[in-house]
Amino acid sequence: MGIDASKIFVVSIMPCVAKKGEKLRADQSASGYPDIDAVLTTRELAKMIKQNGVLFDRLPEGTFDNPLGEFTGAGVIFGATGGVMEAALRTAVETITGKTLDNVNFTEVRGTAGIKKAAYTAGDLTVNVAVASGLTNAKEICEAVKNGTCDAHFIEIMCCPGGCVNGGGQPIMDAFVRNTEDYRAKRAAALYKEDAECKNRKSHDNPVVKDVYDTYLGNPGSHKAHEILHTTYVSKK
Ligand code: SF4
Repeated sequence: MGIDASKIFVVSIMPCVAKKGEKLRADQSASGYPDIDAVLTTRELAKMIKQNGVLFDRLPEGTFDNPLGEFTGAGVIFGATGGVMEAALRTAVETITGKTLDNVNFTEVRGTAGIKKAAYTAGDLTVNVAVASGLTNAKEICEAVKNGTCDAHFIEIMCCPGGCVNGGGQPIMDAFVRNTEDYRAKRAAALYKEDAECKNRKSHDNPVVKDVYDTYLGNPGSHKAHEILHTTYVSKK
């Protein structure tokens, strides 16, 4: 868009308190400027909206600014455990088979169970997948990988039980709600409803994503994409 990168101020609004730590990482500056300038949790944003007397539910409908306003259902469901897996499967199966999916719903990886497993067919391949949320469940999968008893080709791990809908930066539910409502499932259901109503439900159908690859990153997995979009981890014992 021809905007000087030094003039861009990026605020991330996240369900996750870990984003505040990610902001401080030395490798978060693909453009030479910080990728993120400030991080708010959803809880903090909600508090700011209330403190400023903004009647959010009475605001007129508006549209998001592009390019970041263009989204797909695949992105929406990232917030629920199994959502990243399902989004990736939508793209992987179509990429492997070269055919358009009749049904983009991979319902076996949905739901709030701590560990979910499924097998899917993609062309000649049978892909075993495993999804874990909550660190106790993550540990169980990791131990199975270590001792060679896990047959999954593709594993999704979310730290928070239920995924980001239950992230540390999300509004805190009082004890009564926690004990009487399955709020993780309700928040996830809202995301799946939004996904079902989206015009585009697959990441690779997002016109802006396609354009970014065509004009800047090259192919998915290209050297440039790897340099800019991937990260590494170190042990913090
Ligand atoms: S699952 Fe929890 S820790 Fe992981 S990204 Fe989501 S909110 Fe953050």
